[in-house]
Amino acid sequence: MIAHSRPTIESDDIAAANRVLASGYLAQDREVRAFEEDVAALLHLRGGVATNSGTAALHLALLALGVGQGAEVLIPSYACAALLHAVHLAGARACLVDSVTDGVNMSVDDAARRVSPATRAIVVPHLFGTMAEVWAFRRFGIPIIENCAQALGATFQGWPAGETGDITVLSFYATKLITTGEGGMLLSRSSGLLDEARDLRDYDKRANYRLRFNYKLTDLQAAIGRTQLRKLPRFLDRRREIARSYQAELGNLTATYAPIRDGDACYRYVLAVPDPETFIRNMAATGVECARPVHRPLHELVRSNVCPNAARTYQRAASLPLYPSLTETQVRSVGILAAQALHSSKGSMAPGGC
Ligand SMILES: *Cc1c(COP(=O)(O)O)cnc(C)c1O
Repeated sequence: MIAHSRPTIESDDIAAANRVLASGYLAQDREVRAFEEDVAALLHLRGGVATNSGTAALHLALLALGVGQGAEVLIPSYACAALLHAVHLAGARACLVDSVTDGVNMSVDDAARRVSPATRAIVVPHLFGTMAEVWAFRRFGIPIIENCAQALGATFQGWPAGETGDITVLSFYATKLITTGEGGMLLSRSSGLLDEARDLRDYDKRANYRLRFNYKLTDLQAAIGRTQLRKLPRFLDRRREIARSYQAELGNLTATYAPIRDGDACYRYVLAVPDPETFIRNMAATGVECARPVHRPLHELVRSNVCPNAARTYQRAASLPLYPSLTETQVRSVGILAAQALHSSKGSMAPGGC
């Protein structure tokens, strides 16, 4: 079976982990600080606060921005439930925003309809490695959390992901662009926001009491994150190569939800198919694991306004295996098998129309 997602762990990652294990310093210490500095330097931001997950980073980002009881936060409906959890953990209300008509990212126009005097933050993810129009959300004058969990290293017209938001959030979950197993980070150019998040990340050795967390990343994980980060350019090149290869094989058969623009991180290659369940089952029967790239639109999980574009995307989107460790032979087979599955399901689709 060709797995849908796999981390790319190489001998330098293993050597880094061994080095930390032998040192006896396993918890948050020098490696974590160095990892934070490495990522901040890459994104041209003042600093980073590493956490044990992307969800924890989102939670701390909201708290650092002062989001709490009575606040509303705009998040897209077409995204993973981590966003909803982070907002609820902060004690705030989530307002779900629809996707753009012809893509997967969050719509500025729909956000304009959802903004209220209680809105305190907007979480904007760059889904599948394709950048959202994050700068356009600036017009609301509300703090932006730029969610780069799927877009580390992506650019759009030369503008890098992670440099627009008031706070940038990353995830290093096993299947993300780089991994520490589980892990995350928030970054900012504001030392005030960074200090606040750092204070909330752990609870020990404080003069005062307030609700704090244990959201620390370990040195063992950070050491792996640092070797992974050095390989990010190569990982991205390989991802783009694979995406272009799928595009050549499948581009005429059906639409994709993440068209390959220059600078995309190519986190996922997502096809529009008539019925994702059937497509995924047919592909599994030929030895290729495919998946829905978003488990369920959030408006189906909580009582909320329906987001029709998110609903339509969910009814069509199926994602192919795409990660650096796929071999050429595997990439070719996936392309050919997906083409056959599309032919047998008949009726190619455009993402927008019916
Ligand atoms: C993975 C992911 C998260 C959550 O990160 P975890 O590390 O799994 O907690 C949040 N948002 C997006 C867009 C993600 O891809």
